[in-house]
Amino acid sequence: MVEVFGEPDANLREVLISQVDLTEKVGQLGDQITRDYQGKSPLLVAVLKGAYPFLADLARCIDLPVEIDFMAVASYGSATKTSGVVRLVKDLEIDISNRDVIIVEDIVDSGLTLSFLQKNLMTRAPRSIEVCALLIKQGLQKTKLDIRYSGFTIPPDFVVGYGLDVDQKYRNLPMVCTYKSATGN
Ligand code: 5GP
Repeated sequence: MVEVFGEPDANLREVLISQVDLTEKVGQLGDQITRDYQGKSPLLVAVLKGAYPFLADLARCIDLPVEIDFMAVASYGSATKTSGVVRLVKDLEIDISNRDVIIVEDIVDSGLTLSFLQKNLMTRAPRSIEVCALLIKQGLQKTKLDIRYSGFTIPPDFVVGYGLDVDQKYRNLPMVCTYKSATGN
């Protein structure tokens, strides 16, 4: 059990990634992007809502004049299982033609969301598209994914915190925790 908001929470099994480890990893990803995009002004495209803390922290670790825009897709409902169906709910405001785009994702599970986004953005003629994903679930990807920047590979359990929710809750936890399984174990 993990203590959050001043009391033990029986829904949280353990802290999987601490705030300290998140900060260190996000710093390393920011450094890599800074090195790789010297002389460029990449456009960070974050996927709402889960990627918001990662985007905010990552952007401040990139020492380049980045721009930021958001997309929202629906893949999970309020349950802890993916429907496998991905739908665009909010589109970008910035024209990405001829831009160096970096998709900033919170977590890659089946990879369906990411491959949907990559295909969708590719049709808009960007100069380049790369992916920066904080968490990758081990072995669950249904298609081969090209992820240039990745944070942590994690076991295939449902997790919350640092942007990730259950029914819109836990997004503001500063760490990533394992959530009890859907059966309550
Ligand atoms: P995928 O399309 O790769 O199966 O799923 C990606 C999306 O599903 C993520 O952007 C996230 O919204 C949601 N998701 C996948 N795994 C988890 C998880 O363990 N916890 C939470 N809260 N959301 C998840």
